[in-house]
Amino acid sequence: MSSRFQTIVIGLGAMGSAATYQLAKRGTHVLGIDQFSPPHMYGSSHGDTRITRQAIGEGAEYVPLVLRSYDIWEEIERETGKKVLTITGGLIMTSVDGVMRHGSNFFNQTVACAEKYDIAHRLLDAGEIKERFPQFRLTGNERGYFEETAGYLRPELAVEAQLELAQRYGATLALYEKVVSVSVKDEKVVVRTDKGEYEAEKAILTAGPWITKLLAEKYAQFFKIYRQVMYWFDVEDSILKFEALHFPVWIWEFGTSVEDLMYGFPAIDGAHGGVKSAFEQYRVETDPDAVSKEVSKKEIEKFYGRYIQPHFAGITENCVKADSCLYTVTPDHKFVIDRHPEFPQIIIASPCSGHGFKHSAAIGEILAQLVTDGRSEIDISAFSFRRLIEK
Ligand SMILES: Cc1cc2nc3c(=O)[nH]c(=O)nc-3n(C[C@H](O)[C@H](O)[C@H](O)COP(=O)(O)OP(=O)(O)OC[C@H]3O[C@@H](n4cnc5c(N)ncnc54)[C@H](O)[C@@H]3O)c2cc1C
Repeated sequence: MSSRFQTIVIGLGAMGSAATYQLAKRGTHVLGIDQFSPPHMYGSSHGDTRITRQAIGEGAEYVPLVLRSYDIWEEIERETGKKVLTITGGLIMTSVDGVMRHGSNFFNQTVACAEKYDIAHRLLDAGEIKERFPQFRLTGNERGYFEETAGYLRPELAVEAQLELAQRYGATLALYEKVVSVSVKDEKVVVRTDKGEYEAEKAILTAGPWITKLLAEKYAQFFKIYRQVMYWFDVEDSILKFEALHFPVWIWEFGTSVEDLMYGFPAIDGAHGGVKSAFEQYRVETDPDAVSKEVSKKEIEKFYGRYIQPHFAGITENCVKADSCLYTVTPDHKFVIDRHPEFPQIIIASPCSGHGFKHSAAIGEILAQLVTDGRSEIDISAFSFRRLIEK
């Protein structure tokens, strides 16, 4: 294998597979490196499903990313025959006012984005939600936002499809190869791995939760890694159906604390394949090389007791599957997509604070444009690294 490339992409999860595909498609001589063989279950891009929605409650600056991603998912599906995106409709519910989530007032911001970008939606009161989705046990205080074009992505399939396309367009992949350092010498980027050394004009750092290990401490300090758990529960045989035809992707804010939010999906593997749901925790930080993949019986019981049992009819306590996954979170919960503060040859794009998958196809295109054109078509000024450093 040649050791000189135009661009090296470090990490081939959601962001890196998208960037490698987009670069290869533009004819760039690109090398993608990963310590495992993506898709895999050790980072942030596994667990069967990811919610996608167009009116982005985290802020209007994300809407162009997700809209462009919808187009790219379609191109990927056409080129590979893999079904990456399924539209189910998406329900966002809240029973509280003005709570900040992912750095913004999530429910109100969702509605504001839908209005600003003319995204088809309906506002529902608790009675209307109950009538349409009797699977939820409501208190009567809920308000709902229903978006027709929301749905779920298949993260493993999306990564696999983009790596397949990247190779089809001429990318070189180095798998089971761990990058140990990235530096700049004589204006070139030097990437050292556990197997050798490569040189390139540019590098893209998409190492997800491992990003802190490849940055100096003064930059790594802005990224915190949190273990999250996804749970799949079986359903009762009843008139309440949980397959996509009857049940949407959903996000439910039922209280004011950070952990009073949960989200979930329809059953995608048949009626008894399990209904997936999860909450978010920002209390205990972790290390991606030391995190436990085990989900304890106590964790499962606690989740069922606090989140599922009080909020659903028709879901049993039989947990068919549970797995952990990692969030890489910035202080304001927003993304970093920017050049390295000291080395403009290195572009950083990974810390996607638990809500990045839906935007990843467009982020890959943005990264490729930064490399080939020096600028991106979509405005990424809101995702600058400088905003964190200069604060
Ligand atoms: C439980 C959970 C639920 C989520 N739900 C949603 C959702 O519903 N909707 C949504 O839009 N987003 C969601 N997200 C967020 C989204 O999944 C992430 O933002 C996205 O997957 C991050 O991708 P990434 O490429 O940055 O990281 P990763 O997928 O972790 O990729 C990083 C890659 O870099 C490689 N790597 C790291 N270091 C090295 C090294 N030194 N050498 C070689 N390779 C290296 C790793 O092996 C890995 O393959 C969720 C995340 C989690 C964890």
